[in-house]
Amino acid sequence: MSAFTHRDGILHADGVAIPAIAEAVGTPFYCYSRSALVERYRNFDAALAGLGVDIFYAIKANSNLAVIRALALEGAGADVVSIGEVRRALAAGVAAERILFAGVGKTQDEMAQALEAGVGQFNVESESELRALSEVANRLGHEATVGLRVNPDVDAKTHAKITTGRKENKFGVDIERAPEFFDLASNLPGTQASSLSVHIGSQLTQVSPFREAYGRLREMTLTLRQAGHVVDHLDLGGGLGIVYENEDEPDLSSYARIVRETVSDLDCRLSVEPGRFLVGNAGILVAKVVYVKYGGERRFVIVDGAMNDLIRPTLYNAHHDIVPVEPQRVAGPTGLTDIVGPICESGDYFAQARDFPDMPEGALLAILSAGAYSSVMASNYNSRPMAPEVMVDGDRFEVVRRRQSMEDLLALESLPDWLDGSQAAD
Ligand SMILES: *Cc1c(COP(=O)(O)O)cnc(C)c1O
Repeated sequence: MSAFTHRDGILHADGVAIPAIAEAVGTPFYCYSRSALVERYRNFDAALAGLGVDIFYAIKANSNLAVIRALALEGAGADVVSIGEVRRALAAGVAAERILFAGVGKTQDEMAQALEAGVGQFNVESESELRALSEVANRLGHEATVGLRVNPDVDAKTHAKITTGRKENKFGVDIERAPEFFDLASNLPGTQASSLSVHIGSQLTQVSPFREAYGRLREMTLTLRQAGHVVDHLDLGGGLGIVYENEDEPDLSSYARIVRETVSDLDCRLSVEPGRFLVGNAGILVAKVVYVKYGGERRFVIVDGAMNDLIRPTLYNAHHDIVPVEPQRVAGPTGLTDIVGPICESGDYFAQARDFPDMPEGALLAILSAGAYSSVMASNYNSRPMAPEVMVDGDRFEVVRRRQSMEDLLALESLPDWLDGSQAAD
């Protein structure tokens, strides 16, 4: 059941009426449901029960501390892609050894900080990175546990910008080269490779690409073992899709069957790194109608949220369902409507040519499925302070990131002395 449902004509997040939150924090704001996060996590965990699979939440999908903590309390570790995310995971209470550091461009500085913090595993994506990690680990007197991220050359059949497992994508190393990497890692000081990882893309709605990718991991595990290497951990990546509109959500039992049939008999620890699947439908973005105007046949509903708060529609042509918070309070019948923000870009829209009711100015709208890749991709374009994030837990809610102030933004900037106006530039 969705955590966001209309009750008595008013959209609620669990037991809290959305207008009450709007009253308290202003608009726009993101709203997350703890119960929705927890339910997704438990469903996923239950589907994988008996397979010995450990869940590492990919925090780049939504790295708010409260979201990380809510999942960590359920047992999730963290999959991170920058030292900033390492810091977030630690601040949210994830144990360092439960952090998996992925990413194609980790710097030696990031590696050093992560090693000092005790991060559990580094997933390495190139020979240069492996050498860099060896150097840092050796210098600091650490032994880094290395997973090799392989590129299995599998088509995830998803949006081009979020497919990651083809040879032409920048991620991982060609899977055939795994043996030379394991040889190299065992010869270099400070690194120990005993793990393979894949992550073939995001928002996968078919599970067959996972079967292909995990099948290749299986073959490579056997090949490496024949060559005398230890492989005791397989990291199966994230990528499970969610329903935004009318997609078929990948069936968890089919996914679990694929894991069982491809890799569960290899006597390896297994881990998965879901991001979007856990948080995508556990959050919404709430905005207020500022103006309504007409251009030709088209109605424009201009709201106070914008592409700087949620860039997915314009970046990925993504669909987000949008609903009035109080459906009885609409101003007129449905018609072709663009729901847009105030930013000076034609790309600043949440929906185009959508059949949508006429809205009174001042009414609230909820943009659904905004829990993943939404607040984390926010920017300050047009000098728009970032919107606050609110978490609901049953009948209570709490601001878990306050709204940025203009003072916060201006505090980062300064004027050089030589712009005092006394001297013209040459
Ligand atoms: C982004 C990412 C994930 C999570 O992807 P989702 O599609 O949100 O599940 C998992 N692992 C790695 C390495 C990633 O880069």
